[in-house]
Amino acid sequence: MKDGYEIAVVHGDGIGPEVCGAAIEVLNAALDPGVLRFAEYPAGAGHFLATGESLPEATVQACGAADAILHGAAGLPGAVHPDGTEAGVDFSLKLRFGLDLYANIRPIRLYEGVESALAGIAPGGIDYVILRENSEGLYAARGAGSLLRGDVAVDTLVQTREGIERIVRKAFELARLSDGAPEDGVRRVTCCDKANVLRSYAFFRAVFDRIATEFPDIEAEHAIVDAMSMYLVQRPGHYNVIVTENMFGDILSDLAAATIGGLGMAPSAEVGESNGLFQPSHGSAPDIAGQGIANPYGMVLSAASMLDWLGHRHDDARLLDAAARIRRATEEALASGCLTTDLKGSATTRAVTDILCRALAA
Ligand code: ATP
Ligand code: MG
Repeated sequence: MKDGYEIAVVHGDGIGPEVCGAAIEVLNAALDPGVLRFAEYPAGAGHFLATGESLPEATVQACGAADAILHGAAGLPGAVHPDGTEAGVDFSLKLRFGLDLYANIRPIRLYEGVESALAGIAPGGIDYVILRENSEGLYAARGAGSLLRGDVAVDTLVQTREGIERIVRKAFELARLSDGAPEDGVRRVTCCDKANVLRSYAFFRAVFDRIATEFPDIEAEHAIVDAMSMYLVQRPGHYNVIVTENMFGDILSDLAAATIGGLGMAPSAEVGESNGLFQPSHGSAPDIAGQGIANPYGMVLSAASMLDWLGHRHDDARLLDAAARIRRATEEALASGCLTTDLKGSATTRAVTDILCRALAA
């Protein structure tokens, strides 16, 4: 346990600063002064438009040295590099690869009070985790495996044994710590791939099957990604932990978010051996930026994940307790009908922040 922790904050663009500001207020309400020390650093599309640089080296250094990184969201229309890629994604991708944040943990949970079109389909609730491999797969092509020549562009899908083993182990460890699938209480890891068509995914599955034998207490199963996108709508209560390749995880987690109230409800944690980046699953939502109506719950839940991660890493019960209290406050606020416009309510970002802070101060 340390006396205090340095948190590097990168607010980013659009609604990034709004939801990030809300999360910091909530963290401060949940912990004694000085336990977390926040320092802000610039990065993102706005910074790119102003300076021609999306990610200052000083920000990269500070993020690498901090105990944890809290990020809002980045990206703005028109902020693109000459090759067509978005300036807003540089921050996340550089840190993911630079700090080897190989595990992207995306909890999908339907909270009481939030309307879901799937409520009748999943009477036991929706509560699973998408574990997205975050360091290779198709996104590794952003590094060395990409080719652009004349009229042809090629991206390479890279899967290494070591990369698959560590993400699959993490999936089984998460399942072991969980309560199992809501439908039947079974602790289950589902490997989602396209092993029937592509060799890289067949390799992913073969490594998964071998690691699964190390965890005989956890059920292991497979699903092809196209079927998976149907199952996540048809029988979401069946799932506990889903482990999958980088791009599949990206796509499925947006689909999954839609089943629990939308992107605003979906937190995300990207962790490696010694660093962690915590940001909501959603982007900068420029269409609603500056109106004070952004849903901060996903960001607040990401901040709670940050406390859990730091708390376990440093054996600090203060942080674990604060994370639990933030989750409870969130459950109560949602159940009481404190819903933002994306959840068909009328609560502002300010109102959600206030109700959470009041509950935490009580
Ligand atoms: P990115 O490319 O960065 O992932 P995106 O194009 O997927 O971004 P988002 O910014 O994630 O788009 O959001 C899509 C839409 O969902 C937004 O335009 C907005 O209407 C809605 N949305 C996303 N996040 C929130 C939120 N926190 N609160 C309210 N609405 C949101
Ligand atoms: Mg998106």
